[in-house]
Amino acid sequence: MLRMTAGYSDGKIKPERNNMTVKVTLIPGDGIGEEVSAAMRLCVEAALNATSGNTIEWDVQPAGAEVIEKEGTPIPERVLDSIKKNRVAIKGPLTTPIGTGFRSVNVAIRQALDLYANLRPAKYYEGVRTPVKDVDIVVVRENTEDLYAGIEFEEGKPETVDLIKELSVKSGKSIRTDSGISIKPISVTGTERIIRFAFEYAGKNGRKKVTAVHKANIMKFTDGLFLETARKIAESYRDIKFEDVIVDNMCMQLVQKPELYEILVCPNLYGDIISDLCSGLVGGLGMTPSGNFGAYSAVFEAVHGSAPKYKGLNKVNPTAMILSGVMMLKHLGEEEASKKLESAVAKVIREGKSITYDLKEDRNAPTAVGTREMAEAIAKEVLSD
Ligand code: NAD
Repeated sequence: MLRMTAGYSDGKIKPERNNMTVKVTLIPGDGIGEEVSAAMRLCVEAALNATSGNTIEWDVQPAGAEVIEKEGTPIPERVLDSIKKNRVAIKGPLTTPIGTGFRSVNVAIRQALDLYANLRPAKYYEGVRTPVKDVDIVVVRENTEDLYAGIEFEEGKPETVDLIKELSVKSGKSIRTDSGISIKPISVTGTERIIRFAFEYAGKNGRKKVTAVHKANIMKFTDGLFLETARKIAESYRDIKFEDVIVDNMCMQLVQKPELYEILVCPNLYGDIISDLCSGLVGGLGMTPSGNFGAYSAVFEAVHGSAPKYKGLNKVNPTAMILSGVMMLKHLGEEEASKKLESAVAKVIREGKSITYDLKEDRNAPTAVGTREMAEAIAKEVLSD
């Protein structure tokens, strides 16, 4: 029986069940989305087949650039309704089309479903070309606040000029009149829940240390609040070590001694940047999966975008999307399938025969295989014993 919640959430989420089948929303995505989603689907189905024998009924919901013409928006209501109903979704990357009123389609989905926690594991797999080997870091990124809240004032607009005047009066400091302004809200409520999420995740996954990343020495009322709140919450998790590191120092430390870090809990913007840095440590964007979690639903996706120039070429690395499937299987309670699939990914990368161009020593290596062939090798490995 497929169950939910192992490892990540608090037990509130219950999927629509049908004995041995669970319904999952699948947003194939655009650009390279369809290719990596098909790869993920093949491997997830193989892993279930090789273990519990349970099945997933995919509720396929196209979204993004390709549905705008017909439906007038990249995120039709039917997509959000499907995720709300099924409570678990996995999505390929979506291009944010220019001029649709969205800063990012992906951020809009996270905000619409209040998916406040973005979990981004970065793990070294043997065979990947990287200068550092001992990396197993999970970035827990706050997903709804900070400079990503989308409250911005454009340079030269009357409301911006008014705001600048008002701020000068209130703060006693002047802002150049030709400035644009972005607002950075960080709340106690938003911080408490992300810090708790990080500690709960640490506890359930055998992690010993949580590090809060901030710039509290400069931004005292936003990052300062984040740090103070983190310190308070940490007191109720005494069996897990807590420390904090300033974000610039964190970047240096991650390059020099990544082995010192386990879980990094970050406000939204630093989380985005730090997780890409961590992706770089473990072989690039083709390697890093993620999960977005709210109180009621979870959406899994690769960290990378839709890389439009590679669309339809059967070229890009499907690993990030397949590992997002690994995370989803764990969330569904399919622990064995999750482990088996991750081991198969690790083995195929370690052997280095069926891997995409980005994992090769020479990126133009003629021996690189395509997206589909790498996924097929992983699925074959899953089914091999
Ligand atoms: P991108 O991640 O799509 O691509 C940047 C580069 O990373 C690519 O040119 C490629 O060299 C490499 N890359 C990405 N995925 C790879 C893979 N699987 N295998 C090998 N190499 C890979 O970033 P971008 O070009 O800045 O963004 C393109 C579009 O994607 C934009 O519209 C952006 O808004 C969107 N985007 C979506 C998501 C999401 O859906 N969650 C995330 C980031 C960007």
